[in-house]
Amino acid sequence: MKNHFPNSYAEIELNTILENINTLKKRLPGKKVLSVVKCDAYRHGAVRVSKHLEEHVDWFATANVDEAIQLRMGGVKKPVLVFGVPRYETAAAYQTHNLTATISHKTHFDILMDSTRYHLNFDTGMGRLGFDPSEAEEVRQLAVMHQRLVCSGIYSHFATADDPGHPFVTEQHNRFKEVIKYFAEVPLKHMSNTGASTNYDFDHFDMFRTGLGMLGYNSGETRHDWLKPALTWKSRLAQVRPIKKGKPVSYTSSWKATEDGWLATIPVGYGDGVPRSLSNRLKVLINGKLYPQVGNVTMDYIMVFLGQDKVPADSEATLLGGKEGAWNAYDWAEHGNTNVHEVLTNITPRVEKVYTDF
Ligand SMILES: *Cc1c(COP(=O)(O)O)cnc(C)c1O
Repeated sequence: MKNHFPNSYAEIELNTILENINTLKKRLPGKKVLSVVKCDAYRHGAVRVSKHLEEHVDWFATANVDEAIQLRMGGVKKPVLVFGVPRYETAAAYQTHNLTATISHKTHFDILMDSTRYHLNFDTGMGRLGFDPSEAEEVRQLAVMHQRLVCSGIYSHFATADDPGHPFVTEQHNRFKEVIKYFAEVPLKHMSNTGASTNYDFDHFDMFRTGLGMLGYNSGETRHDWLKPALTWKSRLAQVRPIKKGKPVSYTSSWKATEDGWLATIPVGYGDGVPRSLSNRLKVLINGKLYPQVGNVTMDYIMVFLGQDKVPADSEATLLGGKEGAWNAYDWAEHGNTNVHEVLTNITPRVEKVYTDF
């Protein structure tokens, strides 16, 4: 859907994403890079982001086949790994669009079509998808028996790498080291997501996978200022009106004016991706100053109390970004009781994406 007259914009700096990739590469010298562009690259636009990065990364990954086809349709040529499980309906698409499948269960060996490339997925502790490490010997035999398919990689996924120094990370890492002993000839072994890549110094095997990191955020609460957020979300004040002390604002009247002053209405709400849980918590940057969002977040609007500042209507408001003092996605996540991944993926198509590549 194209917005002809959008109420707000997500400005996405493609070169900032590239800089983050290069910063991560310097921290993990010699490792290949897999750029995770699932969920439309966390709403940054999977095709635009992938095409900008293509010469600088080795792999892309998506959650499902549809997202991978979208990359191919957009002209992305590099290998694309699909994390999700193959089904009979999608088996042909791996071949048609030259996608690499994930095999995470015995039945998948029979679903995929001849000469499909795949990576094996072992569940070392995430508890989501993948073979149990105790099945390594058996899976090795299945891989050998299914020579009609091509095993080009093996991977696992961390559950707690957001947290630096979590003992379970080491445990999972050790389990994966045991598993790959059975797969010495498999050329590509990978495990680290953004959290593991930025918080841990251990062996990252052949490749790291980064989604959030390349977009400028670390996962979890540790903020790394050497990663630069690439997305800035801006809108304009739809209206500025005087408000009298004691007057309520928004659904449930959860806020009342503490003094006479000015109230701005901004045309973004939870329908655009401002979490309702940020009601009466969010701060919005207007003319270089942070103002409190007041009352409940509604589907289409938020209100901001300007105090004595009679800011002109149509002034720019920065909702999310982290530049020049605006709240960033860490702040949103912390005050909205969620994580940065969810903050970004909540941004809906109503927010128009504009790209810069300088
Ligand atoms: C989403 C995902 C990633 C990327 O996670 P980030 O924290 O964004 O780096 C890596 N690997 C798998 C299997 C994933 O599902």
